[in-house]
Amino acid sequence: MINRRKLLGMGTGAAAGLYGGGVLARTGGHPAPPEVKRYVRLGRTGLKVSEISFGSASSSDPDLVRHAFDRGVNFFDTAESYRWGNAEEAIGTALRGKRDQVVLSSKTKAGAGDGQAEMMAALEGSLRRLRTDHVDIYFNHAVNSVDRMRNEEWWAFTERAKRQGKIRFRGMSGHGSRLADCLNYTIEQDLADVVLVAYSFGQDPDFYDQLRHTFHFVALQPDLPAALDKAKDKDIGVIAMKTLMGARLNDIREFERGGRSFAQAALRWVLSSPRVDAALISMTSNGLIDEYVTAAMDAPPRAHGLPILARYAYMQDTKYCRHGCGFCAEACPDGVEIAEVLRTRMYDVDYGNPTLARFDYAALGDGASKCLTCTHQACLNACVYGLPIPEFTRDAATRLG
Ligand code: SF4
Ligand code: SF4
Repeated sequence: MINRRKLLGMGTGAAAGLYGGGVLARTGGHPAPPEVKRYVRLGRTGLKVSEISFGSASSSDPDLVRHAFDRGVNFFDTAESYRWGNAEEAIGTALRGKRDQVVLSSKTKAGAGDGQAEMMAALEGSLRRLRTDHVDIYFNHAVNSVDRMRNEEWWAFTERAKRQGKIRFRGMSGHGSRLADCLNYTIEQDLADVVLVAYSFGQDPDFYDQLRHTFHFVALQPDLPAALDKAKDKDIGVIAMKTLMGARLNDIREFERGGRSFAQAALRWVLSSPRVDAALISMTSNGLIDEYVTAAMDAPPRAHGLPILARYAYMQDTKYCRHGCGFCAEACPDGVEIAEVLRTRMYDVDYGNPTLARFDYAALGDGASKCLTCTHQACLNACVYGLPIPEFTRDAATRLG
């Protein structure tokens, strides 16, 4: 395992004023806007990216992109599917004339049976909307089946796109129940320079180790951290997403103390992991951008954030479906993809993003429609964390079907 920068002291040049009522950093007694303080090497790509970077799944406002850029964010991630291409348009509009100052990534869902021509058409559509001739990283998006990475058309397409200068590096993104399997295959076959994975304090065995004497929590996902360790051993860039474990910020605001927020603690936790290089997070308001980038600015040891993270984990323990957890994968005899359904429900209920929720739910085909008339409820006790699966899947079918 590679153990790098964080133990050498995160947050050099520590700052003071943090989240709450407008964020201001104070340096030398003079108010200054918060800004990114750390740029990290993204594995073997050699790209230097802001430690906390711009996720665009929930926004398509060029002004937000400009605000993030002004705060020092230099890495902007998007996908052809985000807001039907409008997220790419917003980034392309806002960063016009700044292409040489930023790192851009986009994604397409290349299927197991897709051919090079449609992949190239998808890439060229993204380049057009982003107003650029190349993206730095191009991901196969939301991979939850090894067959999608096994598709030799994807291999040939990414090699050709590299030769043509349309992409510099290729990657895999994932957050589904078979994430660890997909990562392991991709890493072993050397099919990615960068991986973008759902990873939060709630999936980190170290977090549960530190709470062992306080709560009954246990770490149940050993495969995902092990896969990330393998990625680091190969110097593959690792970017974490979904770092807020459901992002129910309103539930936790009243417990935030000492000018530090839950989101900052969650970001700091994951960024202090030797398994992770950088974090992408959906930036949906100027205030949240300031709050997030300040997480890198003020970086106390992990233990400082433990109480607020523990409280959040306790509150969400039986509500949050862990990304990359496949324990209930075989629980439904009718073939409902429980974890995928619960992820789309999370987008609506927790993130407040019905657009993304409906889009991803529709991509599941039947989704959870069978749950509406299911009488056997074979999945009732299948969740190792105690989530009421039938209640949640029925709710998803009702609100998103
Ligand atoms: S409620 Fe029934 S149909 Fe729905 S996931 Fe559970 S077992 Fe499957
Ligand atoms: S419902 Fe429970 S067991 Fe199933 S994937 Fe989610 S957290 Fe894991």
